[in-house]
Order: sequence, then structure tokens, then C-alpha cells
Amino acid sequence: MPTDFHVIGSGLAGTLMALYLAQNHYQVKLYERRPDMRRVTLPAGRSINLALSARGLHALEEVGLKAKVLQQALPMRGRMLHPQHGDTLTFQAYGQPHEYINSISRSYLNTVLLDAAEAAGVDIHFHQRCVGFDFERHQAHMEGPEGPYTLADAPIIGADGAGSALRQALTQRVRVNYHQDYLAHGYKELTIPPDAQGNFQMEPEALHIWPRESFMLIALPNPDKTFTCTLFLPFEGDISFAHLTTESAITAFMETYFHDVPALAPDYVQEFLSNPTGVLSTLRCDPWHVQDQLLLIGDAAHAIVPFFGQGMNAAFEDCTLLMQALKHHTQPGARQGIATAFENFYTQRKPDAEAIADMALENFIEMRDTVADPTFLLHKKVATELERRYPGQFASRYNLVSFQRVPYTEAYARGRQQKALLQELCAGLSHPDQVPAQVDWQHAEALIKQYFAKAPLRS
Ligand code: FAD
Repeated sequence: MPTDFHVIGSGLAGTLMALYLAQNHYQVKLYERRPDMRRVTLPAGRSINLALSARGLHALEEVGLKAKVLQQALPMRGRMLHPQHGDTLTFQAYGQPHEYINSISRSYLNTVLLDAAEAAGVDIHFHQRCVGFDFERHQAHMEGPEGPYTLADAPIIGADGAGSALRQALTQRVRVNYHQDYLAHGYKELTIPPDAQGNFQMEPEALHIWPRESFMLIALPNPDKTFTCTLFLPFEGDISFAHLTTESAITAFMETYFHDVPALAPDYVQEFLSNPTGVLSTLRCDPWHVQDQLLLIGDAAHAIVPFFGQGMNAAFEDCTLLMQALKHHTQPGARQGIATAFENFYTQRKPDAEAIADMALENFIEMRDTVADPTFLLHKKVATELERRYPGQFASRYNLVSFQRVPYTEAYARGRQQKALLQELCAGLSHPDQVPAQVDWQHAEALIKQYFAKAPLRS
């Protein structure tokens, strides 16, 4: 059987894309530079667990894996805020009681996808590294244990992640725009183990945040009753990774800013010294494809900072939309229509990738800073009440991004309008406790009509 597509990278996006294609009767070969993660223990690398929400769940449902994945997921119903001083934790729900995001293990999710892809007939090759692409000869350059070789007989879908070799080849062409904006912050992962009885040491149904204005710590629960914590901190400056190189500096830092953590994470100093410090960046590439030769998806095309919990969700949504475009324009076994499908997918998706990249950067400010700000809390409480009172008419930006599948551009535009609406509605109020009693709900209804009547919510 001739190959319809070569997919490079068996991470989250590449494996899901290969599975989608195989389920739709396309012949797919999948290449991965690492060994098979199901057979060898690989270093966990970055983000041991991930927040999975509506867009990712929809894709998993389409390939028949949603229920299986959710078996190992933990619901996170809101943010649990840990103050710098004192022990009073504050819970902020993400939405209505039925609305939550899911903490899922990266390796479990990748394993489930690989098993399903293999079962659907995807031909998977490990230890195969892509090293470049020759656009004159229409071929990808690969290296495996047997030496170098080329892939030239079918279009390439590049899902080789943020460090993509295929994107690097693409951006060396003329008229390809490319920017990589590094964040001044890096990240480091730490672990909170179970207690002596084997139970969670903190509330498991929450994403814990220690917001400290210019930096923050977060923690997501795992099924083994541990939490994976991620510290986001500047690389340089007064309070930065640059100064945290000795046991005493790390201990003093944690005790000053995260006073409840040392008792919860007894090995934090050792982990701090031995775990790597990761970099974070936003990648903007334009275009993502060359005719029907090559198309980038997922992080390879549009890696974003992790503060909206959307990188994987957006990568999964890429797969859903690309599959739709391919089904519309192509047939298994034929090359015709692929260039149109790639072009239509890119044109539709690029503005949404830009929108979620910008929202992810904005959410960093919200998470580390404004979640502890009374005006933010007031607006959040009014927004949650508006969602409850006017379902289908009002949904917060967080809700539109995480619990619905409206295009990211629409969520971004509505978020800006909502900000203006909330400012108008909250004029004269100063504290969340004034909600709902002191809010003029008739005025609220009129404002919702005024702002959103011409554009009802769509999903
Ligand atoms: P990857 O998962 O990076 O997969 C790329 C694959 O390609 C890998 O298997 C790699 O080995 C392989 N590969 C690379 N180069 C080559 C090559 N040259 N040849 C062959 N194979 C190659 N997203 C969320 O939705 N929710 C979250 O909560 C969340 N949290 C995050 C926290 C952190 C700290 C970070 C850094 C990211 C987070 N993300 C989150 C983003 C998410 O991890 C990525 O968006 C997602 O992994 C993208 O999937 P991908 O398949 O495009 O890339």
C-alpha cells in the first residue's frame, strides 16, 4: 500500500493526527527520534501532567479515547490560592459546578494514543530523527540506526514540537516569517508526595496557585496522590533562578515566599538543585506549509507559554480541524486536494493560534498577580453570576477558552468586550462580598443585550 502521509514526531499532536488519519483510511507512517516510551523509561522531561479541557476532550472523543483518558484524569474545579502570609486558602471556582479542567499525565496520554494508533494500523518507527527538508527535491532528510535516508513519496506532517527541525528548514526559505519570543521567566518542577497514610496532602480537586506578583508556584494533582509543582521565576534579577544556587538560598527563598511548601515537599531543596530549569517561549511562524510537501502542526507551528493550559489542547484542535479539511478536499490514496486542504487549514487556524498565544501571555499576569487583586475577584464573581443567570448569552473568556470550542479569536474578542461590560456593571462596587446583592441585574441584562445581541454565542 502506498503511504498517504508521513508524520514526524510521536508526541501528543503527531500521534493523535496519525490516529485520526488511520481511522479515516489513510495510510500513515509515524517517525519518532526517541525510543518507544511504552517500552523504556524516559526522563519525564517537561510538564509531567497537563490540564486537559474541552478542545482536547473533543478530539479524544472523535477518535474514541475520551472515556479511557478520563479514567486516569483528576478534575480541577478551580484555583486554590495560597497567601504569602497566613494560612487561609481561598478557592475560586473556574465556572459552574459541572465545569472543570482535568489533570492528566503526559506519559499516560501519549501511551494511550500510541496504542490506539498502532491498533488502527499506523506504522510507527522509533529512533528515527528528522534532520531537515529539501524543498527542491520534495524530501525530508532522516537519520536512523541504519544511517541516513530520505522520505519523498508522500506529504509530511511535521509534529516535531517546539524545537522542530522541519520548522527550522521551512524558516530558511524566503518569504517565511518567524519570531521566537523568550519569556524572561523559566520554570522548575518539584514534587509534593502523599502523606504518611498515602493520601493527598492538599485539596486534590483544584489547581493550587501561590501568586507572588512577579513570579508564582502552581501545583496539579496526580492519580498517585502526589502533586507536581511548577515554579515560574525570572532567570535574572533580584529574585531569580540566578540567585538560587545554594541550599541556604533556596531554603530562605521558599520559607519567605511559599511558607507552607517546605513541610509539604520535604525533598524540595534536592529537587531544586537537580531538576532542570526549562525555558518558555512563544513561536510565531508564517506560513506553516509549502504546497502539499510539508505542513507543521502543534508546537512545531505555534508553541505558546503554558499559562492558559492550552498548548496541547490547541495542538489537538489542530488535528481535528486538519482532519476536517483533509476529509473535505482529499481521498485516501490520492495526492489531489492536499495542497488546498493544507492551505485552508492554515488560513483558518493561523488567527486562532495568534489569539491563544496572546491570551496565554496575558493569563500569566492574571495568574501571578491579579488573582489576588480585589477588583479582579469582584469581576470574576460577577462574571460567574452572569454565566449562571444568562447561560447561552454570557460566558467568561476563561469559559470560552476552556469549556467551549468557539474559535480562540472569538473568545479573545468577547473577552475584551466583557472587560468593558464588567467595568460598567461594577462601577461603585469595591468588594466581591457585594455580589450578588448590590449588583443591578436589570442593568446587567440590558448590557448583555447591548454588547452581545448581534453575536449570540456559538460553539
Ligand atoms: P511535543 O509534545 O513536544 O512532541 C514532539 C515530538 O516530536 C516528541 O515526541 C519529540 O521527541 C519528537 N521530535 C522532536 N524532534 C524530532 C525530530 N527531529 N525527529 C523526529 N522526532 C522528533 N498544554 C496544555 O494543553 N495544558 C497544560 O496544562 C500544559 N502545561 C504545560 C506546562 C509546561 C511547563 C509546558 C512547557 C508546556 C505545557 N503545555 C500544556 C503545552 C504542551 O506541552 C504542548 O503544547 C504539547 O506537548 C504540544 O504537543 P506536540 O505534539 O506539538 O509537541
